[in-house]
Amino acid sequence: MKNGVILKAGKDRAIQHRHHWIFSGAIESLPSFQDGDFLPVYSAEGILLGSGYFNQHSSIMGRMITFDATPPLEAIQRSIEQAIQLRKMCFQGQKTNAYRLINGEGDGLPGLIVDLYDQTLVIQIATKGMDRIKPWLVDTFVRMIQPQAIYEKSALSTRREEGLSDHQGLLYGQETEEVKIKENGLSFLVSLKHSQKTGFFLDQRDMRKWVRQWVHGKSVLNAFSYTGGFTVYALDGGAKRVDSVDISDQTLEMARRNVILNGFNQQTDNFICADVFEFLRQTTLPYEFVILDPPAFAKRQKDVLAACRGYKDINRLAMLKMPPHSLLLTSSCSYYVDENLFQKVLFQAASDARRQVRIIGKHRLAVDHPINIYHPESEYLKSFLLFIE
Ligand code: SAH
Repeated sequence: MKNGVILKAGKDRAIQHRHHWIFSGAIESLPSFQDGDFLPVYSAEGILLGSGYFNQHSSIMGRMITFDATPPLEAIQRSIEQAIQLRKMCFQGQKTNAYRLINGEGDGLPGLIVDLYDQTLVIQIATKGMDRIKPWLVDTFVRMIQPQAIYEKSALSTRREEGLSDHQGLLYGQETEEVKIKENGLSFLVSLKHSQKTGFFLDQRDMRKWVRQWVHGKSVLNAFSYTGGFTVYALDGGAKRVDSVDISDQTLEMARRNVILNGFNQQTDNFICADVFEFLRQTTLPYEFVILDPPAFAKRQKDVLAACRGYKDINRLAMLKMPPHSLLLTSSCSYYVDENLFQKVLFQAASDARRQVRIIGKHRLAVDHPINIYHPESEYLKSFLLFIE
């Protein structure tokens, strides 16, 4: 009898294909273990498939860390090294010092997200297995990256299922409220304490470049603006007016500071604290470029229908009211609304608005958010650049 996890006959296929997750239904037998323990995994025939960490309380009971006989911590270190190598290749010589260093399964490291903000690492842990090795992870990152500080921002509803509560705080180095980052030559303040996700939406970096490229002389609406990422790029691209709308006042204050930080002038009426749904309904939208980058409307499969209604609503209103020959950059970061479905929603919105709409660009995630070809579940973001005739 092997002292590890034994899968049911025929249930090793996904693991043979290097998919990281093991659901309880695939497991024939488990040794006695504590949640978060690393265990070797065998096929029903007794062949070693690799090892992963396990949690009895999670519907995804096991997450593979390696698909060979390498000891788990050694495998994790190897994956971290490879992730760092890839980022070096992507960002060497670029005017960007903020990027996702570890993208969960995309880098072979389920449950772990690590973002680099200049000299500060922000880590987000989703699972008990990763949480158990947190001190080791901190030591490893200190040794490999020599950051000034490591800050944890682990606020995820999925942590409940893992038996973890949310956690936020300094893990290493000097406590700082904010960090200043560079992205494509522009500067942004990122609050460590009062911000969403890990602080800045790095996944939209390439879309922000698109905006800078297309807005010259146009008036721009940045809806769901957060801390003004698109706003600053639009001003840098020579937009004649940029209005930023967000429901959070605190976020808009940061957007205002980011605009000033880059030497641009904006009036207070360029920052509008409002619900975008209401704003789109009540205003005439005299903008030649509109950005719609809402939060995920579908956080679970069962939200998909309501989410599609929401996406259709905002896109229909924009298409209905935008002047002729304008551009709409529209995104969805809901994993459960895939690219095909999102395109269908945009089709419906265009049809209801009775506008001729052409797709002139499509984009997924920025390069520092790699998708593991064997584990496509981490691909969530899609953006369409639309020409409204
Ligand atoms: N485009 C941003 C990221 C957007 S995150 C960037 O590139 O940085 C989503 C933002 O939408 C958050 O700032 C949140 O406060 C805001 N938000 C959520 N619901 C909203 C609503 N109904 N109306 C206006 N803003 C909303």
